[in-house]
Amino acid sequence: MNQSKNEQRNQEFRKLFSEYAQLSLSFPVTFTKGITYTHMTVCCANCGLEVEDENVHGEIKPVTENMSQMKAVAYCQSCHLLTPAEYRLYAEGYFVGLQNGKWTRYDMKPKVSLLKKMIKFLF
Ligand SMILES: [Zn+2]
Repeated sequence: MNQSKNEQRNQEFRKLFSEYAQLSLSFPVTFTKGITYTHMTVCCANCGLEVEDENVHGEIKPVTENMSQMKAVAYCQSCHLLTPAEYRLYAEGYFVGLQNGKWTRYDMKPKVSLLKKMIKFLF
């Protein structure tokens, strides 16, 4: 990728970051015939560390009854770097993520999310 294209992408990410609201405000994402997503994390493309909620901006839109698309930009304070992330959340309990140009499938652990849901309910 040449320098000007990189710069163009960075400008686009900065624009998205300033336009989007904090991603955590879009949760929980509930599928009527599936699971509930309570939280998604985005890791910095440079250092690999999880970016804190307030620095992850994005939105989640339902695409079908069983799939919602998340677009986000995360700002790592240590690296001063914006990382884009695109996830497709499926009702069945797995999601596919485009991070750093690679699509990867992740499986949710239903027991953990159920426990988290219970904890949320109790408090
Ligand atoms: Zn970083």
